[in-house]
Amino acid sequence: MKISAPRGTKDITSKESFKWNYLETKFRQICSMYGYEEIRTPIFENTELFQRGVGDTTDIVQKEMYSFKDRGDRDLTLKPEGTAGVIRAFIENKMFADAQPTKLFYITPCFRYERPQSGRQRQFHQFGVEAVGSDTPSLDAEAISLAMQFLGELGLKDLSVSINSVGCPVCRESYNKLLKEYLEKKSDVLCDLCNERREKNPMRVIDCKVQTCQDNIKDIPLMADHLCEDCQDHFEKLKSYLDEMNIKYHVDKKIVRGLDYYKRTAFEIISNDLGAQSTVCGGGRYDGLVEQIGGPEGYSGVGFGMGVERLLLTLEANNIEIENPNKTDIYIVTLGEMAKLKSFGILKNLRDNHISADKDHLDRSFKAQFKYSNKINAKYTIVIGDEELEKDEATLKNMETGEQKSVKISNLVEEFKGLL
Ligand code: ATP
Ligand code: MG
Repeated sequence: MKISAPRGTKDITSKESFKWNYLETKFRQICSMYGYEEIRTPIFENTELFQRGVGDTTDIVQKEMYSFKDRGDRDLTLKPEGTAGVIRAFIENKMFADAQPTKLFYITPCFRYERPQSGRQRQFHQFGVEAVGSDTPSLDAEAISLAMQFLGELGLKDLSVSINSVGCPVCRESYNKLLKEYLEKKSDVLCDLCNERREKNPMRVIDCKVQTCQDNIKDIPLMADHLCEDCQDHFEKLKSYLDEMNIKYHVDKKIVRGLDYYKRTAFEIISNDLGAQSTVCGGGRYDGLVEQIGGPEGYSGVGFGMGVERLLLTLEANNIEIENPNKTDIYIVTLGEMAKLKSFGILKNLRDNHISADKDHLDRSFKAQFKYSNKINAKYTIVIGDEELEKDEATLKNMETGEQKSVKISNLVEEFKGLL
């Protein structure tokens, strides 16, 4: 019986892996330029980390986590996002004792039990950054700038940055009161989930995907209109930093973000041509997360997570192609037994000199070897026969122009170093 990959997962085959390598290399370069260093945390963590760090009332914790018991009866969860693990590592490795801020980036698979569709998988991947140890809005602006430079250098132009402030515990307390009063009056027209959230985390009602709920809460009070002085100041400073860097944005007071730990800045980068799953990057500030998962007081952070699959879809929608760099430079075609044997020594010598080269491994006919060379897009083909071998000669063919010339076998490396 055939065994398929689990629902919601995808193989990244050689037809695509070079694109992933390109994106990862580019992301690493940009992060490094901004002073962010890579961190790799485990794929699974204690379930409690996400319950506390992502939040009990979130969709992720309530219905999307891949949680299981291991053979030692421990409650573990495959990471559904990158931030909680990074912050746990920040605390556990005492990074707070270093000079701050701590600027980290990660590249990681994430796991969420969701209904698979285009741009939505059960195993997907994220690029992300976290800057911990300072609550200045300049780091919020830097995270947005980093994401935009990365996306811009990939060739993406049609992007919108939406920013909002979701306040802090101080202003959210009075705002939540206002919100609860407003929502109580709407209780009979809201969906069950909204009615549940109304009490526990009323701001999340704004995020409801049900159209009738949206129609009924058009005049819902929004956090950004009720910020305390400090939050207002933070938001204004963020805007002026973005202005200073010429980064265009608009304020979208309805962004609340799915995760519980956000405070103050929340932002999204949206591709204007991706349809339903249009959010490529989401992030914000999480003053309080470090404490919430058992770390010392006073370490706030800001970061983003970017969906790599969605990024690839966005690139496709924009007709931006990533070229496959894995082209074989030289394919050796042989004629005769002696040539076949000797070609292995020649191949080894080329490879020792860092020239990408290959030859037939299937006993193909002379003609079929040529055909294969064409198929793998080799830049050059070199033909070696038993007779030529004796004369230290081979025929070199440029596969693009069709040009041919005779070359010395003993001089191949020098010959190619000049050509490639
Ligand atoms: P959505 O509203 O689309 O479910 P989200 O708010 O759950 O997104 P975040 O938790 O902010 O998303 O994750 C950051 C990014 O990861 C998203 O902007 C998206 O690009 C990507 N992402 C999230 N869930 C998935 C998924 N199931 N499959 C592929 N990419 C995803
Ligand atoms: Mg989601």
